[in-house]
This record gives sequence, structure tokens and C-alpha cells, in this order.
Amino acid sequence: MADYHIHTKLCGHASGEMEQYVEQALEAGLSEMGFSDHMPMVSEMGAGLAMEPASLPGYVDETLELQKRYPEIKIKLGIEADYFPGLEEESKKIIDQYEFDYVIGSVHFIENWGFDNINQIDQWKEKDINQVYRDYYALLKRSAQSGLFDIIGHSDLVKKFGQKPSEDVSDSIREAAQAFSEHNLVCEINTSGLRRPVSEIYPSLDVLEIYREYDVPIIFGSDAHKPKDVGCDFDLAYQLALNAGYNEETLFEKREKITIKREFK
Ligand SMILES: [Zn+2]
Ligand SMILES: [Zn+2]
Repeated sequence: MADYHIHTKLCGHASGEMEQYVEQALEAGLSEMGFSDHMPMVSEMGAGLAMEPASLPGYVDETLELQKRYPEIKIKLGIEADYFPGLEEESKKIIDQYEFDYVIGSVHFIENWGFDNINQIDQWKEKDINQVYRDYYALLKRSAQSGLFDIIGHSDLVKKFGQKPSEDVSDSIREAAQAFSEHNLVCEINTSGLRRPVSEIYPSLDVLEIYREYDVPIIFGSDAHKPKDVGCDFDLAYQLALNAGYNEETLFEKREKITIKREFK
């Protein structure tokens, strides 16, 4: 049982010391955890939402040190990288600097709109919600095709504030799922949506069932921004995985997949 989506205070909007996240993972009974703080942004759009470039070496060093200090739990070195179309090379340069165990690719922006940012929530009023959903899944597809990432983060984050499409957008979801499958990506079941206005895990069951159809493997993440959220609501995440027909969990080491049989219940 692993939580692969854990932030640190280095991103500027999380709290607690890294060792407190490890302590909480032990308390939650996890056998494995991975830090995946926000990688320094390659676009001005993300200014102030991620680690500063100067913080990255210390983040890596502290993760490696915690691995030695806590042999009772596997601690992986991950990172959450934003996907900005057109800036793939800039992202790759940063990713290639370190021996990450995995890289989570996340879409938090549609063009220059931070659609999941509470400070930009007013822009939802001016949008065609169906089109926002289609644009979001088109970006997930492109992020998969970029070859930069191992894991697609919170893969229906677009629902965060509760806006839902009035049309069936499953053709756009299928195109994304097909790209995940072709490019060997793993999808994340992320429990943080339960702590947001939408009050649902990312992704919803109907979306996850499509990923399952395309044989897209899964990992689990809490998206913890404070220690107490590590492993939060994983019982519900396992139930969702079971309902979608999954019986395996994927882990990563040095960007190689490890598939574990799991009986979710
Ligand atoms: Zn994210
Ligand atoms: Zn995150």
C-alpha cells in the first residue's frame, strides 16, 4: 500500500516537515510512500505555485536522507510536473537532472487559465463547460504523448469546483485513455477531490471504468499538503478501484513499473 502523491512545504502552500509526512505514513500502515512536490515551473503562469529552482537539490537530498533514516518504509523520490504544451524541452531539462523514481504529469492550466485555482474561479462563469472538459482531456492526451511522465495526476481535476458537462464527453476521455495506454502511462486515484467542493475522488467511477477498458494501470495518491492527509481516505480509493474492476496496483522504482496483485476491499 503506497501513497505516491505527497507535497512538502518547499512548494510554498503546504505545511509540516518532511519527516512528519513519513511518520504519518507509518501510522497509516503504508508500506511505501513517495514525495512528489511541485517541480519548479517552466512557465510564468505557475509563478508562486511550485518549488523554486534553488529548492530542488535540497528536496532530493532530504528525500534520500529520509530513505536511510526510515528503513522500515520505502520512500520514493517523485515529482509532480505541470504540463505546458510547447515547453516540453524546458520540463525535460529539469526532470533529467535527477534520478526520480517517478514523474507525475499534471494539467492545472488550460491556455493561461488556472482552472483549479480558487483565485481564478470567476473565469468559469464565462466558459462553455463542455468545451472546458474537452480541452482538459485534449491536454491530458498531449501530456501523455509528450513522453515526459510516468503517471497522469488527478485525471479529472477539471471537476474540482463542481462544474459538470451537460453533454456526454466520453469520446474525449476515450481519446485520452487511448493515449495513456499507448504511451504506457499509469493513472492516479487521488483522494484529495474528497476534500474539495466536488467531494469526489479523482477520477470518478465512470472515468476510471474507461481507463480500465484501455488497460491503464493505477497508483494511489492523497495529494497531501499537510502530514495528517497522508493515506487519507484510501479505503474509499480501494473501493473505487475494486468497483472499476482493478486487481493490481503499480509501483515505481527509477522510473520502471512494478506491478503488484491486489485484492481491493
Ligand atoms: Zn496537482
Ligand atoms: Zn499535487
